[in-house]
Formats: sequence, C-alpha cells, structure tokens
Amino acid sequence: MKVNRCSRRKILNPCSLEMHNYQIDTYIGCEHFCHYCYALNKAETNWGKEIFIHENFVERLTEEISSLDSEDIYMGMNSDPYQPSERIFKQTRKALEVFAKRGFSASVLTKSGLVTRDIDLFAKMPGSSVGFSIAFQDERTRQLFEKNAPSNKERIEALKRLKSAGIPTYTLICPVMPFITDIESVIELVAPYSDTIWVYKLHMESENDKNWLNVKSILDRHFPELTEQYQKIAFSKNHPYWKEIRHKLEEIKSKKCLNLKIEL
Ligand code: SF4
Repeated sequence: MKVNRCSRRKILNPCSLEMHNYQIDTYIGCEHFCHYCYALNKAETNWGKEIFIHENFVERLTEEISSLDSEDIYMGMNSDPYQPSERIFKQTRKALEVFAKRGFSASVLTKSGLVTRDIDLFAKMPGSSVGFSIAFQDERTRQLFEKNAPSNKERIEALKRLKSAGIPTYTLICPVMPFITDIESVIELVAPYSDTIWVYKLHMESENDKNWLNVKSILDRHFPELTEQYQKIAFSKNHPYWKEIRHKLEEIKSKKCLNLKIEL
C-alpha cells in the first residue's frame, strides 16, 4: 500500500447525515476496497493501492474544531477509520484523543475489529457509538464483494466486546444486495450485540459508475442470472422488490421487538 501525505485539504467537513453536522475521514482512500462502495465514484486515489494521510493532523484538527461547541462527529463516511494503516499511523486514535480533550463524542462506522483498541477512549466520551457494516451472511459471498475487508467473525467479536464494555453499538446491514443478502440471517447474527440495526439498500446512480461496473462484473461471473434484475432493481428507489423487503422487515421488527431502522 502506497501512503502519501497531503497537507492542504480540510479535515472537518459538513456531514449529510441527519444527526451530524460534521464528519471527518482520517484517511483519504480505503484499503478495504469493497467493490460496491459509493465512495469509489469520487475517488481521488488509486483505491486498494494507495491512500493519503493528513499532515500535521492533530494541530490542524484541533484548530478546525476550535470554534465549535462540543458535538458528535461522524467518522467512516468515505473511508474506513480502522483500515490496516491505522495500526501504523493511528490517525483515528489521534482524532479521538483530540475530541475527548474538547468534550466531543464520535460515531464511528467500520468493518474492522481494530476499533476495540480504542474502547478506553470511547468509554471517556459519553454519547459516542461504534457501528459495523455487514452485507453478507456467508464468508464465501462476502469475499467476492469485499475480500480485503475483515471477516464477519472479526466484526461480530468486536461488536460483542464493545457491547460488553458498555459502548453503544449499531450495525448497518448495507448494502442489501438483492437475492444475495439474507437480511434475516444477518439480523440474527448481529441482534444480540447491536443496540440499533439500520438496513440500507444497494442503490446505484449511473451505469457508468465504478461501483456498478465492479458489481456487474462480479454478477456476470458468479450470478449471471441476476445481472438483468439488478439493472432494474439497483437503479430504482421504488422497485416492487424493495417494497416487498420493506414489508418483510416491518413484520420482523414488530415480531422480534427490534430497534430496526428501515432505510430502503
Ligand atoms: S470499508 Fe467502507 S469506505 Fe472502505 S471501501 Fe468498504 S464500503 Fe468503502
């Protein structure tokens, strides 16, 4: 993995999520290189081969948050804060230390068990939460779409550790891959350790986008019977397939009394 340094880019950025004003990406680019990742479409790095890290990170982040009142900052929007390079560069841990000092909290989304290294910091930052995204119920299929990312086993072990340490946890079942993701099985895997479960569908914007071209090539090779259906379902927000899944999830939610947020 080639690691470059960048110095001019802002670290703190506006966040489009409802509950957050700001987000940071502690790395630019993501070593996990999930083939369906929407961030690939605006990637400035050669994903899977190089990443950028911010120079003078602590000083600049401290300065950028200096005019804000304490609030919850989202981490994990366009890159995984606990991708492998975090073991060396510790940019995410440094960010958490800056936030903890100023009384901020952090909502972190990752696919890596490395996040448990920072349980001590989350415990000192009330209002923080840690989430994992999981899209597949079995390892073989998972590897087709996200082979550089940690296994589900690692993610679930980490969820357990966080939960037993008293850190609020969540799971994103994301993206739901039509006819491939068995949502009910994933819910069963994560429900005992997740305070909240969010479900997001696979949504593609353009047939020229990199993430669609990646997904299509995996489908063509391994699930050729699905390619045509994906062309209709993945590009539509209201395809009957999504309506049916929504209905099924509402039933599961009320039957199992889950804190399930259905974003399909
Ligand atoms: S871990 Fe997240 S940000 Fe990184 S490639 Fe996968 S989906 Fe994209």
